[in-house]
Amino acid sequence: METNPASKPPSSLSKASLTMTHTALTLAEPGIAAETDVVIIGAGPCGLFAVFELGLLDIKAHVIDILPKLGGQCAELYPEKPIYDIPGFPSVTGQGLVDNLVEQIRPFGATFPLSQMIDSVESLGTPEAPLFRLTSDAGTVIICKAVMIAAGGGSFQPKKPPIPEIDTYEGTSVFYAVRRMDAFTGKDVLIVGGGDSALDWTLNLQPVARHVTLLHRRDEFRAAPHSVDQMRALVAAGQMDLRIGQVTSLLGTAPHLSGAVCRGGDNAPFSVGCQILLPFFGLTMKMGPISGWGINLNENLIPVDTEKFETSTPGIFAIGDINTYPGKLKLILSGFHEAALAAQKAHRYVHPDKRLTFQYTTSSSSLQKKLGVYG
Ligand code: FAD
Repeated sequence: METNPASKPPSSLSKASLTMTHTALTLAEPGIAAETDVVIIGAGPCGLFAVFELGLLDIKAHVIDILPKLGGQCAELYPEKPIYDIPGFPSVTGQGLVDNLVEQIRPFGATFPLSQMIDSVESLGTPEAPLFRLTSDAGTVIICKAVMIAAGGGSFQPKKPPIPEIDTYEGTSVFYAVRRMDAFTGKDVLIVGGGDSALDWTLNLQPVARHVTLLHRRDEFRAAPHSVDQMRALVAAGQMDLRIGQVTSLLGTAPHLSGAVCRGGDNAPFSVGCQILLPFFGLTMKMGPISGWGINLNENLIPVDTEKFETSTPGIFAIGDINTYPGKLKLILSGFHEAALAAQKAHRYVHPDKRLTFQYTTSSSSLQKKLGVYG
């Protein structure tokens, strides 16, 4: 996978997403407990469009993603590349599509717990009246009446460097994503990598940490040139260090790190004192915890019917790249269609007493009111 940013600071939210953050998008803090109608797992294009289809039916949604930004593969793997087969758009870039989707779902006020992965989905209800408790790896707990899995090719997870016993330091001294910058206040931080994530976090943490060292295997960076220039200016001003080399082992008593032993370009060993190590080596897509949620899987995909895109568990739907059915095409437009039909069935679980009537957005004043374009 060609992607590089393992986890980006909040500043890497797309421009539109960032704007929406201040107007209509609610970015939830980790560790909250919440109730909503539907939880959408995955903020790729299909998960985002599901907010729209659910919103038209008066269904509230939380959208959760392990990435700190919206857009799934479009935003993470090919933000600058044009897509030519989105209906109505002769050409739109990956990020352009995400920005438009974010704008389109703005009226529905969904909540977006980002930078966290749904670990478990427990069923609390019955097939006729489903109820679920979802728990994320950041401790967020959400109770909902239906779940829409829009997990694409799986969760984007950090590639881990091959450093002996690194796992014994993870969570205390070694982190692959930054959830709270203030956790690093007054610490000596070693950041490893040469992409946008490594450089962005270097610049963001340099004023917060006691000292920041950036380590990269060569003196060339894939990150945005202006970030590299800013980093070099800080090094020239003696406000941080840049070292060339790779980490070979860790020093300390797990889980508390005291330093890292490195090997330079000339193979000469050196050590860097640090309490925190942040390796940013890119992302890989993994199926993740979905296999433990009790739904039928077929070769890491979720079989669904093509009437309502429901899984083997009533109340759990699967849309987009993660699902499979005869004739499935892994196209964004397929996921949009699937979201519309899944929302119709979800309505029965969320509003069992309300009759659903088919309406066009062009002619229905009640839909236009929900969209904020009427009255
Ligand atoms: P994704 O975009 O994969 O998003 C899924 C999200 O779910 C991810 O952000 C992931 O982190 C998150 N997630 C997964 N599991 C969890 C969990 N347990 N907890 C929290 N979050 C989780 N399609 C087209 O139609 N036209 C094209 O021209 C086209 N070009 C492409 C070019 C490239 C280079 C690539 C790689 C793909 C292209 N595609 C194209 C395919 C398209 O991007 C996918 O079909 C689309 O992104 C699928 O959307 P999705 O919402 O199902 O999943």
